[in-house]
Parts: sequence; structure tokens; C-alpha cells
Amino acid sequence: MDTTNLNSPLGDRGMKLATKLIHAGATPDPSTGAIMTPIYQTSTYVQEAPGVHKGFEYARSQNPTRKALEEAFAIIENGKFGLAFSSGVAATDSVIKLLNPGDEVICASDMYGGSYRLFTKVWERYGIKFIYVDTTDAANVKAAVTANTKLVWLETPTNPLMNISDIEAIAAISKQAGALLCVDNTFASPYLQNPLDLGADIVMHSVTKYLGGHSDVIQGCLMMNDAELREKLYFIQKSCGAVPGPMDCFLVLRGIKTLGVRMKAHCENGKIIANWLRNHPKVAKVYWPGFEDHPGYAVAKKQMRDFGGMISFELKNDSLPPGRDGVDEAKRVLSSTHLFSLAESLGGVESLINHPASMTHASIPKEERIKNGLSDSLIRLSVGIEDADDLMEDLKKAIG
Ligand SMILES: *Cc1c(COP(=O)(O)O)cnc(C)c1O
Repeated sequence: MDTTNLNSPLGDRGMKLATKLIHAGATPDPSTGAIMTPIYQTSTYVQEAPGVHKGFEYARSQNPTRKALEEAFAIIENGKFGLAFSSGVAATDSVIKLLNPGDEVICASDMYGGSYRLFTKVWERYGIKFIYVDTTDAANVKAAVTANTKLVWLETPTNPLMNISDIEAIAAISKQAGALLCVDNTFASPYLQNPLDLGADIVMHSVTKYLGGHSDVIQGCLMMNDAELREKLYFIQKSCGAVPGPMDCFLVLRGIKTLGVRMKAHCENGKIIANWLRNHPKVAKVYWPGFEDHPGYAVAKKQMRDFGGMISFELKNDSLPPGRDGVDEAKRVLSSTHLFSLAESLGGVESLINHPASMTHASIPKEERIKNGLSDSLIRLSVGIEDADDLMEDLKKAIG
């Protein structure tokens, strides 16, 4: 059969985002015309003669399902290259493996607990130094630069306090310092923010969250523009072996197709619920970057297309009965919702409620948490795409 037409890649970089999300990486299967990329559940590939093959030798190095997904990753972040990993932390780990003992990394003091654990408990032992600064003020990043700074690790919006850092300003500082800038773009997703366009060298995602979108896959990815950097990271990917299986790649290819419609719904519900919580008499403070008085609002408006469905809040402590503190009250609310499931993770179609201090951020020592403004009574919501009225009703009953 003539496969010339089938091989022309769709999801061209010039297309609009909604179109790219549907077509990115999708090339009808050359052997059958199957519109969906098959799950190539194979560990190896038969060679015609020693060294004569179709570009696939062994599935840790190459797999067609993963290849289609990696192409999609590149396209949706406006990058040239994408690489898939077995988890978000494996993707992060691979970036740190670009460094050598003695190198320094400047990172956000308020970041994902698992990244903090990887940096402090694993990589510090190998002589890599991590300097934690408040990156919401780019001047703090500049002040922390030394001759050994090789990487700046940024997360914006941050987990769980929704702090916003200026990617463009920090990219300029990193460039001047001769350091790479990697942005953990998990919370925003490529639908809301594209760090490569703002000068970042690498974008990292926990694909587990919005890209997968259905709470059924653990996966991570990296996107970049520089071919040499891609070669180094591909070498790490195949040498260290933290690759995802083809079934997971298939699920993520499917997830990406609905990222646009899902994110639109997450943003709409997020806005409604953030505003409703803010006016609730028992709520003391709501963290959501879409509020005009959020300290990062101007930067968020500049670099994001919308504000997302991640919200954190604290309850008021003043009207509690004697003997009950804010932590008890937060735990009561956390155990009282029905539509919001009490669980770690985020970014799925269903709503989740989480207690960062005892769940996602328990790996950060209490003093560090408090210093960074993460109180033990903070509640984090991943607002799903259910009907907002039902979600508010659920929270209303739980908060009381
Ligand atoms: C979940 C998460 C990670 C880690 O990703 P895994 O897929 O769980 O390994 C990293 N950064 C952020 C912001 C996350 O939410």
C-alpha cells in the first residue's frame, strides 16, 4: 500500500493549540492505517541483518508508541524535542544528572515536596548543592548566582501556595549566569503556559497530572529546543532507563487530545469555586492566582492564558470551640467531603482534596514548611470538571 500520505505528520507547529492537542504526534499506522497509534507492546525488534533495522533496536531506547507521544510533547509545548519518563520525579532526576559534583542549583523555596526530597535526600549526597530562594522576586535568584550555578529550577504556580515567578525575568538571569533554566510546568499545563516561549531551556511535567488527566498513569516528560541538550537527556533516558511502558504512552496520547476542553472546564470551575470560597464566612484566606490582589497576579496575567483549577485555602480559627485548633478543623473538613476525594495528586477530571502538611508535603520538615508559609491547616483542592454547583454544595456541607 502507498504510505506516503499516511506518513505526513499532522499537528504541525503552525496550528492553533486546540488543533495541535488533537493531532500532535498522530500519524496513522503505516502498516494498517489505524488512526490511533498502536500500543507496541514489545521489548525488541527483529533485524534484517546485524545492524540493519528500521530505527528500533531495543525498547528501552526506542518504542514507536513512546516516539509518537514524545513528538506530541514537543509540539504542545512549542518545543523541538520531547522525552518521556516513567514518572515526574524520574524526569526531574534526569535533569539533575546533567550536573557534576560541585555544581549549584538555585531552586524555589516553595516547591513540590517530592522534588525537595529528591534534591536534599538523594542528590546532595553526590555533592550537588541546592540553594533555596523565594523566586517570586527575580532579584533573589540573581543574588544567589555564583560561578558554580549551573541550573535554575523553577515551579510556577507553586504547589500548594500558588506563588507566581516571572519566567521571562528568571530566564534572562539564568542565561546571563550561563545556567540552564528548567521550569516544572505541571500546575499550569501547556494549555495555560509555555515556558520555552519565555526563554526556559527545559520544561518538565508530571504527566501524571493534567496531561494524563484521568488519574490512571504515572509518567513524566521533558521538552526542549536545543538539539545538544536533547542528546544529553536522551543519553540519560536510555542509560538510566526510567522509561514509561507503551500502554501508559497510549493513555497519555489519548489524554492530551482532551487537554483543551478539560483545562477550559478546570479554569471555569476554579474561578467559580475560588470566588465562592473567598466569600465564605468560615474561610480566612484563599490562594488562587486569578485574584487581582494575589501578589503574583500581574505576572500570572502576563505569562498564563488563564488561572487553572488549583486552589488552596485556610479556615478561620476564631470561632472554633475551646480545645479545637485549626488543624483539627481542617482535618474534619478533609474527611467530610464526598465529591472531593481525599487523595494526593491533582489534575484529573475528578475533584480531589488534600492536606499538604500530612500528605503531599510531609517530606518537607515542619520548620521549613512554616517558614515558607505552608501552615498545618492549609487545604488544597484540585477542582475537577464536574458541575460547579455540585462541587460547591459538597464543600458547603463539609465546611459547615
Ligand atoms: C506530582 C508532581 C511532581 C512529581 O511527579 P510524579 O509523576 O508524581 O513523579 C512534580 N512536580 C509537581 C508540581 C507535581 O505536582
